Amino acid sequence: MSIAIDSDLYRRLFAGVNEQGYSPDGWTRAPWTDELRAAEQVVIDAAVADGMVCEHDPAGNLWITDPNAPADGLVVAGSHLDTVPKGGAFDGALGVVGGLVAVLALRAAGVPNAERLAVISFCDEEGSRFNTPCFGSRTMVGTFGDEVADAQDKDGVSMREAGATDPTKAAGLHKRIGCYFEIHVEQGLALDPADTTLGIATSLSARGRWEWSVTGEANHAGTTPMVGRRDALVRAAELVLAAKTEAEVRDGAVATIGRITPWPGGTNVVPGRVSGTLDARALDNATRDAVVQALVDGFPDVTIEHRSTDDAAIFDTGLIADLHAGAAELGISSMDLPSYAGHDAGTLALSDVPSVMIFTRSPNGISHNPAEHSDEAVCLDAIRVLAAAMARQLG
Ligand SMILES: [Zn+2]
Repeated sequence: MSIAIDSDLYRRLFAGVNEQGYSPDGWTRAPWTDELRAAEQVVIDAAVADGMVCEHDPAGNLWITDPNAPADGLVVAGSHLDTVPKGGAFDGALGVVGGLVAVLALRAAGVPNAERLAVISFCDEEGSRFNTPCFGSRTMVGTFGDEVADAQDKDGVSMREAGATDPTKAAGLHKRIGCYFEIHVEQGLALDPADTTLGIATSLSARGRWEWSVTGEANHAGTTPMVGRRDALVRAAELVLAAKTEAEVRDGAVATIGRITPWPGGTNVVPGRVSGTLDARALDNATRDAVVQALVDGFPDVTIEHRSTDDAAIFDTGLIADLHAGAAELGISSMDLPSYAGHDAGTLALSDVPSVMIFTRSPNGISHNPAEHSDEAVCLDAIRVLAAAMARQLG
């Protein structure tokens, strides 16, 4: 089935959303801010003009539904309108705008059961402000307790003060979603060299964050001989290299030590203590855990503490196959693509909502950066594939 997509509407909404929070060094739309509300208003205006109903749930997720929407079994497309600080124009915005353009096209085409079509703009997907990634979807599936609203941003403003008065009341709302689609800019370089337009996500990687510290002995940089020194930063350097090696020897694993803090931090002082972070990811939980365990075993003198983990999310095989078939029917190339980032679609998939993502080719593979880009023709192809797949789900 080919549905006529209104490319002018796509252009207008995408530009309208990205007028909000723009500065020459990137887009910044933090959750519960005027910039985000203004971006939401752009899609709300277009949805309301088509007779749809727009409301925020207690977690701040924006639901765009038909006035006669059933209580469950909704066929949903979505993403998020918040950004990282100084982020790109596409991450999130493409999925919300693309989802709405697809839904409006299906409504205009008069498809049967159109009252089941919905769009969700998830709240605070990036988690940059309160360190709560995928906040909106995780609140729906019941991950957080009431204390989450006490989280503070860097200015000491709590989530509650910012506007999330009772977010956990959104728990359980994911049960309204019969299936979930998310268009997203590719955040790597798999599609462009393969000359493929769309990536159909097979899974989201298993991820985890740890913090570690190693203790040596702070001492005089001149009078302490090299033999017998207990330089904590030298030991930390060995850990950094081991993290690289342990990931390299395991298929699909990546490990990153992105932050280290030597103490006391003097030019003429042997570092006495170093603390740092570890981010480890792999296609499956066991491989991720094996990387970390190898570091724990190899560095008994380093304290490695678990901070958070997200298990691998597997997307719905039926939806994946259907998207490939639908793309082929429209003459649009597609390939399987695992993702190493976190997304609301992963949260939903882990809570048994059949979910899938459509990645759009990015010629530079850059994301969370103002240089983030997908060609308009590629974005419109993704919306075509999405609309046809949503129509098939309506039956
Ligand atoms: Zn995103």
